[in-house]
Amino acid sequence: MENSIIAQAEKTKKIRSAFTVKNKQYLTPHIIRIIFEIDDSQAELLANVRSGSNNKIFIPAEEESAPLIRTYTNRKIDLENRELTIDFVAHGDNGPASAWAIKANPGNVLEIGMKETKRPLVPDADFYLLAGDATALPVICAIAEQFPSYVTAKIILEVAGREDELILCSAADISVEWLHNPHPENGSQLAEAVKSVQFPPGVLKEYVYIAAEYTTVHELRTHFKINLKWDAHAMNICSYWRAGQPEGKSSEST
Ligand SMILES: Cc1cc2nc3c(=O)[nH]c(=O)nc-3n(C[C@H](O)[C@H](O)[C@H](O)COP(=O)(O)OP(=O)(O)OC[C@H]3O[C@@H](n4cnc5c(N)ncnc54)[C@H](O)[C@@H]3O)c2cc1C
Repeated sequence: MENSIIAQAEKTKKIRSAFTVKNKQYLTPHIIRIIFEIDDSQAELLANVRSGSNNKIFIPAEEESAPLIRTYTNRKIDLENRELTIDFVAHGDNGPASAWAIKANPGNVLEIGMKETKRPLVPDADFYLLAGDATALPVICAIAEQFPSYVTAKIILEVAGREDELILCSAADISVEWLHNPHPENGSQLAEAVKSVQFPPGVLKEYVYIAAEYTTVHELRTHFKINLKWDAHAMNICSYWRAGQPEGKSSEST
């Protein structure tokens, strides 16, 4: 446990530990999957961290300045095989996190922070609308994997092109629609696609989960909150990045 810091903050335990890259592969032309080893002491720490939860990665800065912090998703925590998976969108070397993933090799070390939680990724509902761009693929795949069989979900995902589409696994009745956009920094059709979804009639409880670029998120938050007057508890609409800006103030959640 030498390289780990655990802080007890109310009921959530915070974990920060240095993980070693075990394997790296291009899952698609624009998504780099990095699998980190989980050692014995880390396995103990991660026992109550859920696949699909957020993390903070600490990218070593050049010279002696503090590491740069970025937010990613624990795509999968597999304690049996001792593997922590993070899927990085390879959007170029203009961002330190993307650049780190592009250059990463087995044996490299990355500090990762996360929180313990038993809370499900989404609350109970009968019908879900999940939508996001490539940065939200990890969380949306994890949500779909954790759905019980009795729910129905419409999923809209925007990726660079056909070759970036993935197969989503779920026990639920899911239908997936793909949009293609090689330059999400220049705008997106995701908001229009989401706004055109017809919710099935007679559903008792609906839930909307959207994670994407700031402009799309802003438009969809206005749509659900102001135009449709949805209850805040029935949605989580979250900005994952902002075109033209490094991560900082761009992360907001409804
Ligand atoms: C809760 C949460 C979970 C997230 N999970 C993931 C995840 O699992 N995988 C993942 O890839 N991302 C994820 N993101 C998004 C990720 O944090 C941002 O894309 C982040 O900006 C990447 O950092 P960077 O250092 O590469 O680029 P930054 O230094 O933040 O930005 C540099 C430049 O790159 C642009 N940029 C950033 N991201 C993209 C992009 N995706 N496409 C095109 N241009 C971009 C910025 O607009 C800026 O101009 C998540 C964000 C949040 C809030």
